[in-house]
Amino acid sequence: MKILIAEDDTTSRLLFSATLRKLGYAVTAVENGQKAWEAWKQGEYPMLISDWMMPDIDGLQLCKMIRAEPSLQYTYVILLTALDSKGSYLEGMDGGADDFITKPFDEEQLAARLRVAERILALHKKLHTQATYDRLTGVWNRAAIMDYLAAELERTTRQSACVGVIVADLDYFKQVNDTYGHPAGDAVLQEAARRMRLALRPYDRLGRYGGEEFLITAPGCTWNDAMDLAERIRSAIGAEPVNSPSGLIPVTVSLGVTIGGDRIGEDAATLIAAADEALYRAKKAGRNRVEFSDRRV
Ligand code: GH3
Ligand code: MG
Ligand code: MG
Ligand code: MG
Repeated sequence: MKILIAEDDTTSRLLFSATLRKLGYAVTAVENGQKAWEAWKQGEYPMLISDWMMPDIDGLQLCKMIRAEPSLQYTYVILLTALDSKGSYLEGMDGGADDFITKPFDEEQLAARLRVAERILALHKKLHTQATYDRLTGVWNRAAIMDYLAAELERTTRQSACVGVIVADLDYFKQVNDTYGHPAGDAVLQEAARRMRLALRPYDRLGRYGGEEFLITAPGCTWNDAMDLAERIRSAIGAEPVNSPSGLIPVTVSLGVTIGGDRIGEDAATLIAAADEALYRAKKAGRNRVEFSDRRV
């Protein structure tokens, strides 16, 4: 695990670095808060051990800056302090610190505190995974793909780019369950998600939007790109039946496509409604088809 150390006192910095390396951690050590802030922004460190008392940006300030930053991964912050008054502990905890170590440190106690830190980081990671991935298919869940689409729309509006939005709904999926059983239906959902994923480009994202409904965001997409992508997905899903424990199950998908980001004021809900309307037409026209939103013109 990577640990970032910020400590202005050279002796203490070297001592911490050597001890942590001996304990098996990968250490980056810097001598002030500014350098720590820059390293943290670049490096996604799961753990920061920072001296509290440093010139300019001190440990508590650094901790507050990190807590104010949206970040995918939690950073466990330990403040080093020679202070031991009740007031400063409270201030540190309220500022977002997870733990304190008083200098000079005891090696065994440091190792034990780091084991606690690792336990908490593992919990954070588990919760984050549960909160963002769909358990059955392994793709992003509804909340995560919606958050991503909203963030992507903000970005595209700022950069006057656009983003393709595709809604994909498996055809006659109720019949799959009714004919082959629910577990076979689950297997089809898993395989359909896998096939979709393979059809995507590295920067496209796939999420499970509902039961047998998926949402794809395709940044930087022109209408032609989005059409091609939707068509690739359609043909990948229907290419061959899914091999399930209950036998070979034919599967097809219908898709509705739209483009967003190039018009001010369009939100995710508006775009999804437009893609849904196109999807509805694809269903009505016989399924296993791609239709485009008429917002195109
Ligand atoms: P259409 O072509 O119009 O989309 O027909 P459809 O049968 O796919 O649509 P409908 O919305 O009537 O049925 C969707 C079915 O998807 C109903 C529901 O039982 C099933 N489903 C939803 N989530 C799951 C799941 O997690 N596992 C399984 N096996 N089935 C699911
Ligand atoms: Mg200091
Ligand atoms: Mg369906
Ligand atoms: Mg549906």
